[in-house]
Amino acid sequence: MSTKILNTLILGSGPAGCTAAIYTARASLSPVLLKGGQPGGQLTITTEVENYPGFPDGIQGPEMMELLERQASRFGTEILPETAESVQLDRRPFVVRTDFGNTFTTKTLIIATGASANYLGLESETALRGRGVSACATCDGFFFKDKDVCVVGGGDSACEEASYLTHHAAKVHMLVRRDEFRASKIMQARVLENPKIEVQWRTEVLEVLGVEEGRVRGLKLRRNDTGEIFEQPTDGLFLAIGHTPNTSIFPDSLERDAKGYLKTKPDRTETSIPGVFACGDVQDPFYRQAVTAAGSGCMAAIEAERFLEESGD
Ligand code: NDP
Repeated sequence: MSTKILNTLILGSGPAGCTAAIYTARASLSPVLLKGGQPGGQLTITTEVENYPGFPDGIQGPEMMELLERQASRFGTEILPETAESVQLDRRPFVVRTDFGNTFTTKTLIIATGASANYLGLESETALRGRGVSACATCDGFFFKDKDVCVVGGGDSACEEASYLTHHAAKVHMLVRRDEFRASKIMQARVLENPKIEVQWRTEVLEVLGVEEGRVRGLKLRRNDTGEIFEQPTDGLFLAIGHTPNTSIFPDSLERDAKGYLKTKPDRTETSIPGVFACGDVQDPFYRQAVTAAGSGCMAAIEAERFLEESGD
């Protein structure tokens, strides 16, 4: 066990965590960053990032995360390949234990553990992730120019993803498991009025076809009302069945909203526990973009620095 008390411990190595590291390191807080279970975060499972300012020709997601990590290291962040497993926030300094059996004590904690897109849980879906299976239309829609794609889900996200995909794809099928949407009326109307979108009600995905070819070529579907099973050719499968914020290791005293996202003060990143800050997708069900995550990472770092100054630590 390390007896040293850190100024700042950062959990997560996506754009939010890395940006918090860059700022806290430059503020001479000697941060330690635990990379977590998905080093580099969700961007490492996407291909090209074209909407991050400063990269006019785009950049591959994994490469961008490597650059961000290098930038964080350059100013002295200690980056460790560990994942926090338990977090004690009922007294300060806070205590974090990791999967390596290490214990860290810290005066401030910056939580940037992100959120994970929900998947259906099919083997074929996992095998074809990044090869036609995606959970992010704004990241990957461009690669489906003039193609046929399917979107699973009937909520606001699915409607938004389907609408977005019509800018690229020739045809978008929405596969909705019930005979009604969960989405708001306005989003439903937008979808139903779009001639490029066809809604297939009461339809569920049984299998993604194309594992042998290494690329999605179709779906095996079931009609829930008739039990009919059939194959439908398609080039892409987009999942929009919700995200789950990665908060299971935190105590209940850290306030969440109804969907489990960490609550922060209005226009701030401070959580319900003073000295604990949350940035990126773990506290953002709305924007979920790399650039907004990075922005909130910067905010968390500045707030942590001020917190330390004001508490005289
Ligand atoms: P939701 O939980 O609202 O919707 C999830 C959808 O996925 C539902 O239609 C659900 O079906 C379906 N689904 C879930 N699991 C499966 C499965 N295993 N197989 C097939 N379908 C499945 O999630 P969203 O991400 O759409 O929205 C999250 C929150 O964010 C909501 O509050 C939403 O309003 C908000 N949001 C708002 C936006 C906006 O206002 N512009 C944009 C995007 C999100 P079922 O209905 O049968 O459960």
